[in-house]
Amino acid sequence: PGVQTLHPYEPGKPMDELQREYGLTDIIKLASNENPRGPGEKALAAAREAMADAHRYPDGNGFRLKQALATHHGVAPETITLGNGSNDVLALVASTFLGPGREAVFSEHAFAVYPIVTSAAGATASVAPALGSDSGMPFGHDLDAMRARVTDATRVVFVANPNNPTGTWLGRRELKAFVQSLPDHVIVVIDEAYCEYSDSPQQPDATEWLSAFPNLVVTRTFSKVHGLAGFRVGYSIAHPAVAELFNRVRQPFNVSTSAQAAAEAALADTDYVRESVAMNNEQREWLRGELEQLGLDVLPSAANFLCVRVGDAGAVYEGLLRAGVIVRPVAGYGLPEWIRVTVGLPDENRRFLDALTGLVGRRA
Ligand code: PMP
Repeated sequence: PGVQTLHPYEPGKPMDELQREYGLTDIIKLASNENPRGPGEKALAAAREAMADAHRYPDGNGFRLKQALATHHGVAPETITLGNGSNDVLALVASTFLGPGREAVFSEHAFAVYPIVTSAAGATASVAPALGSDSGMPFGHDLDAMRARVTDATRVVFVANPNNPTGTWLGRRELKAFVQSLPDHVIVVIDEAYCEYSDSPQQPDATEWLSAFPNLVVTRTFSKVHGLAGFRVGYSIAHPAVAELFNRVRQPFNVSTSAQAAAEAALADTDYVRESVAMNNEQREWLRGELEQLGLDVLPSAANFLCVRVGDAGAVYEGLLRAGVIVRPVAGYGLPEWIRVTVGLPDENRRFLDALTGLVGRRA
């Protein structure tokens, strides 16, 4: 019955589809919050080398990558679960802890995969209203409202920090107090897919709280700042007893050999990460300024994308497509007047802005 209620996750429009439909050749994709710089050379070289073992199954336990992640985070390897992207880990959380008669709590305007994995597991989604458009974090998570939805039937709470598609974030004190306030029967997932981009001193690293909260699961990904979305590698860090449950449910070889090798090299490539964050944050704030100059509302963002109010988002999305720029309409996230644009390379951001200016005019 849960599956009957579902709509499939809609990925950003593929470039070749746009090429065919509109006869365009020079297309830029700012739709899926990927790293626009391309994969790091070191990660690619490691992946190529690993392909020599393509006739063998991958290391099903991901020994080397887990060791590297354990060192990186200062945790034991037994706390780590690797996934085929962090989406895979979110699905593991749902299949391990949810089911008919159980509930998952998350916010309105939160990441689209939470309702999918919840319903697919036969559980009920309990959606908390988000903060108002007039708050300091418009459309961000309202932790009090989320806490109020926790019942005896709740087994999982999903928190995205920063959140997609809004870009909004939660501060250290409020988020820690929220985790502390949850009853023991609730697993709290803090999804930190974009946390590396945050330059706010208030942005927590929830992995620091793992020893205090056995019901905490922190998820991370190699798809964003590490530039490896196509390889599909994500992971969670959790209490070893929780990780052991995930390991029972997990598909045996869920991360390929090349993906494991690329991720291990990407983790060590701190220059690539630092340069990616620096370029993103500089460009994000430049783009924000330009969009505000156009008279458009832009949500606060600690991530690698901006959520922009454009009015008739369907028409603007179409108009941008015709100009060869793919962005993401976010009506499906309950934000019908907004689009989400990934911060691209400087040239790409300029092109997006020029195309958008032609569509919305200068309103300021
Ligand atoms: N969490 C959030 C908040 C995201 O925006 C995304 C990617 N869109 C993911 C998780 C999943 O990313 P991946 O499966 O590529 O790790």
